[in-house]
Amino acid sequence: MNYTSTRSAMTASSAQAIASGIAPDGGLFTPTSIPQLTAAELESFRSLSYSELAAEILSRFMDDFTKEELLSYAQAAYDTGRFLRPGTDSREPVGLCELNPGEELLELFYGPTAAFKDMALQIMPRLLTASLKKLGEQRSVCILVATSGDTGKAALEGFRDVEGTRIGVYFPDGGVSEIQRMQMETQEGGNVAVWAVRGNFDDCQTGVKKIFASEEANRAIGDAGIMLSSANSINWGRLAPQIVYYIWSYLRLAQRGVIRMGDSVNVCVPTGNFGNILAAYLARRMGLPFARLICASNANNVLTDFIRTGVYDRNRDFYRTLSPSMDILISSNVERLLYYISGGNCAYVAGKMRELAETGRYALEGRELAELQSVFTAGFCDDAATARTIREVWEGNRHLIDTHTAVGVRVLRDTAPGGVTILASTASAYKFADGVLEALGGERCDGFDAIDRLAHQTGSPVPMPLESLRGSAVRFDTVIDRDRMESAAVNFCQSFDL
Ligand SMILES: *Cc1c(COP(=O)(O)O)cnc(C)c1O
Repeated sequence: MNYTSTRSAMTASSAQAIASGIAPDGGLFTPTSIPQLTAAELESFRSLSYSELAAEILSRFMDDFTKEELLSYAQAAYDTGRFLRPGTDSREPVGLCELNPGEELLELFYGPTAAFKDMALQIMPRLLTASLKKLGEQRSVCILVATSGDTGKAALEGFRDVEGTRIGVYFPDGGVSEIQRMQMETQEGGNVAVWAVRGNFDDCQTGVKKIFASEEANRAIGDAGIMLSSANSINWGRLAPQIVYYIWSYLRLAQRGVIRMGDSVNVCVPTGNFGNILAAYLARRMGLPFARLICASNANNVLTDFIRTGVYDRNRDFYRTLSPSMDILISSNVERLLYYISGGNCAYVAGKMRELAETGRYALEGRELAELQSVFTAGFCDDAATARTIREVWEGNRHLIDTHTAVGVRVLRDTAPGGVTILASTASAYKFADGVLEALGGERCDGFDAIDRLAHQTGSPVPMPLESLRGSAVRFDTVIDRDRMESAAVNFCQSFDL
């Protein structure tokens, strides 16, 4: 299996793709051909556990790992008690639950941070450390992350106590929700550090980029036997594991008799950076009978316009919405989609990305636009419709959904594609309890106040990882200035041996 950059023809192995994260030319590592699953293979997967299926699927994309290695990473990620379906004792990492006939919620938030990023970030650290080992890297690795909330906590949980790694996370002081701050301040693990930075998210992001570029920091950290790396969402090691749950849910639907093997279903995904829905696209390209892929956005609807008209234009107002993890104007993983819909034309992708960088805009035409629209349908909804949908689903189904999932439900119901649709449910309602509570007519409040009131009002179970925050001790309460970010990372790397 060869990988290339989306922007210029080159070859890399899967281990190189995962270890490097981003390609040297600024493009994204992407497999040059997509492995095909036959009907007979899919049939044979029906009896597999989630981890066994993950090993099968990942082995098709990553031929420098053995299936046994991949299985051991999957088991370490998904079978060691870190996933728990709220209100049950089910340890299955994902669940499928019918809302109304034809609406199948694929629940992806049973992990340690109560949002879907755990699905990738629980296994990615194992893929990363194994890739480095395969490439002969002797140093241990320090992951640095700037976060506006969700990713930092998921990365902390993924890397905590993983041998040969340490992880440092910067978040904007006062710029994350109360629950998100508590999640990070109480982080456990012997190889973790968390800093609140006086500044906003962009300051954190810029600061981390500066550390990566700093010769002085890299020398000091290198002298400690450590190299810097990132757990960025454009890393192939984060994308590949997301393909698995789409295949898993298709097999489950067949098992439950909702569909017969071979029947078409649609997939609807509340989308931000385009990673999750791209995984569904890759599953489709592998041969899964997915008819329409429905891309759901909030008021930041750059992707809706793109899919409807072919014009990607980030020159527009940015809105803070009830679904903050989708508040994004540049969806990085669209770049991988461009690679596939142009038939692997790197010069074409590089040209579009140059236009995007220079003018904030590019347009698809002809064959590429036709290809895009033959697969994707798009829609968006604003905060009022998001809130109305949370209410509608609670009153109609006695089922509590979070603000991101609500965007998906709204767009699915507005689109009405017919047949069965798998709808990605990306977070627990309690992770965004303030917005959900208000949608249900509750008073505006925050943190545990909002969680308690929401639980009282709905009787819906609170995920254990959020519940247990209540009794957790604060381990990290350091607030630093922007110009101390680098020295904090260097000190952290020099502070102990793993
Ligand atoms: C990250 C995130 C999304 C967006 O997923 P992408 O892969 O970036 O499109 C949606 N919902 C939640 C809760 C998230 O954390």
